[in-house]
Amino acid sequence: MGANYKEELVGVFGHPVAENPTVVMQAAAFEFLHLNWRYLTIEVFPEDLEAAMNGLRALNMRGVNLTIPHKVEVLKYLDEVSPAAALMGAVNTVVRKGDRLIGENTDGKGFLRALTQDAQMDPRGKKVVVLGAGGAARAITVELALAGAERITIVNRSAERGRILTELLNSKTSASATYEPWEGTYSVPAETDILINATSIGLPPNADDKPNVATDSIRPSMLVCDVIPAPTTPFLSEAKARGSAVLDGLGMLVYQGAIGFSIWTGEEAPVEVMHQALSRALR
Ligand code: NDP
Repeated sequence: MGANYKEELVGVFGHPVAENPTVVMQAAAFEFLHLNWRYLTIEVFPEDLEAAMNGLRALNMRGVNLTIPHKVEVLKYLDEVSPAAALMGAVNTVVRKGDRLIGENTDGKGFLRALTQDAQMDPRGKKVVVLGAGGAARAITVELALAGAERITIVNRSAERGRILTELLNSKTSASATYEPWEGTYSVPAETDILINATSIGLPPNADDKPNVATDSIRPSMLVCDVIPAPTTPFLSEAKARGSAVLDGLGMLVYQGAIGFSIWTGEEAPVEVMHQALSRALR
């Protein structure tokens, strides 16, 4: 066999993007499986997204992740979008198949995999309370609804965003969704099965912050989850002290990357290797 010095290229387009740690886990996975692939962290300004997507084609890149501010805008430049990503109206992963660009959203799927595999929780028939109504909340609630969650309560500071997401879930999925204004301290209904912080509260540099939820309304019967990509957060520590099972956002981040890895390479992702690499980088 002749030499092959060619690398298969994937990466992320974002702005700002310098602190995006995804390369660490993807590179670890490529190395572990001896794949001659490279993940590039690329600064793409908002006005250059179309040129960047054409560049992806020209360079024969295998695919790309999209992060802030491109997840919605990128839909214009795709040939096909998965049903779930179309529902969310946002794409975080693109794969090139021949000359076609196909969009997927792995954020909610990553959460779902962490939920079912790590927390052993089947969302079917469950009552879920979600704090937040931004991109992460949208991806998570759409996947939970598609996976059979029965009731989804959206608690959000801005009423408009909260109502838009509630309306989307009610009109496009079989889940029954309601919007709760977030005024002062939120008290979690006792019958809640899954409570999720899907806001950016607790994200560094404000890692000590926690969502304003009545501590004594959190019960041992609830699974409490956080999207903040860290091994724990003050919100989760408090829930743990109340006797609840908890699920951190690091697993979600690893699984969404693992799903992307498999979409691009066709290989099963070495999840443990990716998890270790990312934990080390975020420490
Ligand atoms: P968005 O900006 O789209 O949404 C932010 C949400 O947080 C909104 O609902 C906003 O409410 C709410 N929020 C922010 N600050 C406050 C506050 N002080 N009080 C009350 N509500 C607040 O962000 P994303 O949804 O894209 O991201 C949210 C978090 O999810 C980030 O921390 C991100 O790191 C994390 N994430 C984690 C992933 C993972 O794999 N672990 C994947 C994707 C995201 P309002 O509408 O009122 O402004």
